[in-house]
Amino acid sequence: MIRSKLLLFASLSAVALAQAPAAKEIEKVYPDARALYLDLHQNPELSGHETQTATKLAARLRSSGYDVTEHVGGTGIVALLKNGTGPTIMLRTELDALPVEEKTGLPYASKVRTKDDAGRDVPVMHACGHDLHMAALVGTAEVMARSKDTWHGTLMLIGQPAEETISGADGMIHDGLFTRFLKPDVAVALHVGNELPAGMVAITPGTYNTNADSVRIVIYGKGGHGASPHTAVDPIVIAARTILALQTITSREIKPGEMAVVTVGYIHAGTKNNIIPDQAEMGLTVRTFKQDVRKQVLAAITRITKAEAAAAGAPREPLIDRYEGTDAVYNDPALAQRLRSPLEAALGKDKVVIAEPITPSEDFSYFVEQGIPGFYFSLGGADPEKFAQAKAAGTMLPSNHSPLFAPDVDPALRTGIMAEVAVLRNLLNASTEELRKLTAEQSSH
Ligand SMILES: [Zn+2]
Ligand SMILES: [Zn+2]
Repeated sequence: MIRSKLLLFASLSAVALAQAPAAKEIEKVYPDARALYLDLHQNPELSGHETQTATKLAARLRSSGYDVTEHVGGTGIVALLKNGTGPTIMLRTELDALPVEEKTGLPYASKVRTKDDAGRDVPVMHACGHDLHMAALVGTAEVMARSKDTWHGTLMLIGQPAEETISGADGMIHDGLFTRFLKPDVAVALHVGNELPAGMVAITPGTYNTNADSVRIVIYGKGGHGASPHTAVDPIVIAARTILALQTITSREIKPGEMAVVTVGYIHAGTKNNIIPDQAEMGLTVRTFKQDVRKQVLAAITRITKAEAAAAGAPREPLIDRYEGTDAVYNDPALAQRLRSPLEAALGKDKVVIAEPITPSEDFSYFVEQGIPGFYFSLGGADPEKFAQAKAAGTMLPSNHSPLFAPDVDPALRTGIMAEVAVLRNLLNASTEELRKLTAEQSSH
């Protein structure tokens, strides 16, 4: 039994090593990918306005032999490469940049300014590294097109607009991404950041980041003179009780160890010290990792808010409006486990680590919600030397969205291409049936 397990492990590793992209495959496409990176970095475009960016990507992918469709969900692009029978695997890059003034001092720093949707003059910078994601995807596309004897199935590359406004993924889905084109068996994406040195990748099995919900509450009272509380119902006192009671959700209702945050970020009520106002408004942010915990917290907020108003004899029920929210990105655990070994074979065992979930939101979750198992992993972007210095000094390197965010391009971009090819080749050597069986637990999270 032990012997056969060992043999199986040995043969899997041999397969992973055989499929690992060779350094010379990467070097052949690297100069073009790097040139594209520098071009994109110097010509960033805001969310929903990525026209030149999309045109550049579409042209490169067409010349690599892909069947490219433009203007999917706005400026989005879909590029397909069919290579016999097998699964369909989707790789996604974002297209958009941010209204940030670049202060890196790099020779290729962005100097672009434009008008935003509100007509304001704003600077533009690829401060989230989406330019590096695009360059990696184009490099990967070329490697995959040149090595069709190493995989089978359909490769589906997408350039998604407006990730920073959490609207582009939804826009592409509504424009028929999975009906006019193909519904993939697995969706893959990566994100570069300074939390990891360039040359490394990190995998987070299960929940990758948080569910985020915004809730507005209006408590209705009865206005009156500050000296005559018996003629009024004071919404400020109800709000005060409500805020404290809401803090008992995480401390008393949620199972210890589960992640839940309830923050009342603002409270507005009243105009003058001797007037009891007739309403009080507050705004909440709610963060959770798990869907069932999220439901429990949102239900508790509603129950407590209504009950506190009723307890005080409020003339009407409070308004409780969850006006926006995004789901956490969920990494299929079986996929994460499967893809660790090809990444280790390609990059080296010590270059692949397991990481904790992070807090920012991301709209890759919209693809996963369509029932597509996802693999979203982190790509190291930090200059390894600066990373070590910062770690020793206990400081942090500039994060994504900072005017100083500057990935260490050469190792990060090379590693990005290497990692994407390793992941795609592994998945595009499986059968559709095998991937379905592997990810069958997906819907139960
Ligand atoms: Zn971002
Ligand atoms: Zn980003």
